[in-house]
Parts: sequence; C-alpha cells; structure tokens
Amino acid sequence: MSKKTIKDVDLKGKKVFLRVDYNVPMDENQNITNTKRIDATLPTLNYLLDQGAAVIIGCHLGRPTEAREPKFSTKPIAKKLGEILGKEVKWAEDCIGEPAEKAAAALKPGEILLLENLRYHKEEKKNNPDFAKKLASLADIAVNDAFGMAHRAHASNVGITAYLETVAGFLMEKEINYIGKTLEAPQRPFVGIIGGAKVSDKIGVISNMIDKVDTIIIGGGMAHTFDKAKGYGVGKSLLEADKIELAKELLAKATAKGVKVVLPVDIVVADKFAADAQFKTVPVDQCPEDWMGLDSGEKTSEEYVKALEGAKTIIWNGPMGVFEFDNFAKGTLAVAKAVADATDKGAISIVGGGDSIAALKKTGLDKKISHISTGGGATLEYLEGKILPGIDAIANK
Ligand code: AMP
Repeated sequence: MSKKTIKDVDLKGKKVFLRVDYNVPMDENQNITNTKRIDATLPTLNYLLDQGAAVIIGCHLGRPTEAREPKFSTKPIAKKLGEILGKEVKWAEDCIGEPAEKAAAALKPGEILLLENLRYHKEEKKNNPDFAKKLASLADIAVNDAFGMAHRAHASNVGITAYLETVAGFLMEKEINYIGKTLEAPQRPFVGIIGGAKVSDKIGVISNMIDKVDTIIIGGGMAHTFDKAKGYGVGKSLLEADKIELAKELLAKATAKGVKVVLPVDIVVADKFAADAQFKTVPVDQCPEDWMGLDSGEKTSEEYVKALEGAKTIIWNGPMGVFEFDNFAKGTLAVAKAVADATDKGAISIVGGGDSIAALKKTGLDKKISHISTGGGATLEYLEGKILPGIDAIANK
C-alpha cells in the first residue's frame, strides 16, 4: 500500500502541522551538541516553505513530567533551527491552548513556528483524542517526518490522523521506500546480516529475516549462543543460556526454508573484556575455557565477503564484534567494506543500528550505502516485519 507524501497534496497557503524527531542531545547549559536530527528534516521543511505553507512544528525532547522541567524545553531548538535556516523561527510556550492557537493563527505562508515540548502533556504518549484534536485544530494538514517514533501510537503521529489528513515527509518516505518496499519485494539474492550483543534483542529480526532472505549472516556476541546450540564450547564468551533452544529452532527454521546460514568459522578470542586484552585467533570450536570471543576471525570475514558477492539486496544490523576496541574491529570493518563493495556493484544496501552506522562512518564508507536508517527501535520493529502504527496511520494514495 503506497502512502501519500507531501508531493501528493496542495500545500499553498495551508497551515501544516509537521511532526519531527528533534530529540537532540544537549549539554547541561542546553546547548545542542549535535544537529543531525534537525539537519535531516531540512529537505521536508524547505519544500513545505517553498510550496507556500506556514509550518507549525511539533516535537518532543527527553522524558519530561507534568512538572515541565525547563531542561526539556524546545526553546533552544527554535533558536538553533533559526540559525541553521537563517530565518526567524517563532516559538510558542505551549503546544496547545491559547499560546499555540494565537501563534498558529498569526502564522503566515513561509513562516515557521516551533511548539513547546509535546510531552509536557501526558496525553501525548497516551494518544488522547482530545489532545490530538487540539493539536489538529492548529493546522489544515499534518505531515509526519518522525520515523524514530513510528513504532509508537502517540497523539501527534497517530491520534491526530482522525482529525487531519496526514502525509509522509521526505524522511519518512525514504524509510518506507527502502525498508518497507524491500521487505515486501526484495531483489534477489537477498542477504541479511545480523550482529550485536544479544540474541534476545533481535529474535524478531532474525526470525523475519529467515522468512525473507536467501542467506543470513549471524555474527557478533549473539553468534556464541548459536555456536553453543551447535555443541561448541564458548569459554567465557557472551552467552544467553536460556536462548540456546531458540537458537536451535531458528537454525532449524532456516534449514526448512532453504536459507543459508553463515556463522563464524574462526573467532578472535581475548583473555579479558578490554581494549588492551591479549588476543589470538582460534577455530570457532576451540575457544579456550578462560577466554572470550570478541571478534570474528579472518577466515570468517572471507566467508562473509563470499556470502555478499553478487547480492542484490542487503540489510545489515549490528556489529560483528566489539568494534569499539580497535583490536576487535576487523570483522565489523570487513563487513562494512563488503557491503559498500556490493553496493558499488548495484546492490541495494540498508543499514540500521547505531553501531553498524558508527562502524561505517569510521571508514568513511557510509556515503556508499543506499539507505542508513536512523530509527533505532522503529527500525528494529520495521525489520521484524511489524506494522508500525505511525506509518499505518499515514493516508493511503
Ligand atoms: P547491539 O546494540 O545489539 O547491536 O549490540 C552492539 C554491541 O554489541 C556493541 O557495543 C558491541 O561491542 C557488542 N558486541 C559485539 N560483539 C560482541 C562480542 N563478541 N562480545 C561482547 N559484545 C559484543
């Protein structure tokens, strides 16, 4: 089902409620330390302004209570957005009621108003219909560009759609086009790469990937639980003993579906969990009892590269080792390079998860990736194949 976007509606002279993810990091003096999330919305924002809309921006910051702690005020965001755009960004001291209504009513085409933190009202997270209606009353149409909260049904992204037609902004559209459409109809061969610390965090993703992919690469800390399921000793490696049966089931599901599973054949083991640990490479079934696996070995990286050769679709989530320590970053960097190379050769590559993205950035390979999904929890749930309420509520074409 295709979703309507800002390109499908007439915006001239309209008041637009734009829901964004401006949950930016700030220092103790409320200086914004990273503007990535603001920058990411500029294409949508500039398009709305160019089309002659008056833009009323709604967002949340942190986890405030009804006490309205000043450190969660969006006022510094209005100032920063104004600096970035080189134009005035008005600010309303509440997101509903008189301050918001007055400011919204006075807003002219081409002007921007940022509302105070939506989560100063507990009704936002409760998806309260009255609160949603009050927000909706400020505008003629809603635009949702907050993919990071698409797995949550809140008033500003779901409740509001009962009162205002809601369309996707460019950020949201990109996530739907890449993740949603890829999972629906991937070009094959389709390779999934799942790494990171724990099986338990990614059961849904692994299971859904097995339903969709031709090959699944499993690496990182979670691979040890699969190794154990295959009967290997894992020494002091990260192990989820209560997930060994589940790992067996997932391996059996892959076999039944004819999905190739690529697990480490060799691992880099360390005598402690530290950047300066002693380390050596051993076959995967020979982890010394007092040591722990912190990275995949060279032979494994070769297997990963081979599995990715000729891939037409790749989804990657989670590092192949403790890449934060230089001595244990090689496996992850090998995957980053292999994914970038496959993309050069025409594959569609989608990478999600802060650590995989950080690994790509470390090598400057991030620019080669077709789509970097920044949704965190929303990305994981989308990869699990779940219907995300924030996307579901956007108007259909
Ligand atoms: P996740 O958030 O589940 O993607 O996990 C990312 C974390 O997994 C990173 O901080 C890695 O350091 C960690 N990790 C990856 N491989 C291992 C491993 N073999 N042992 C312990 N932690 C690991």
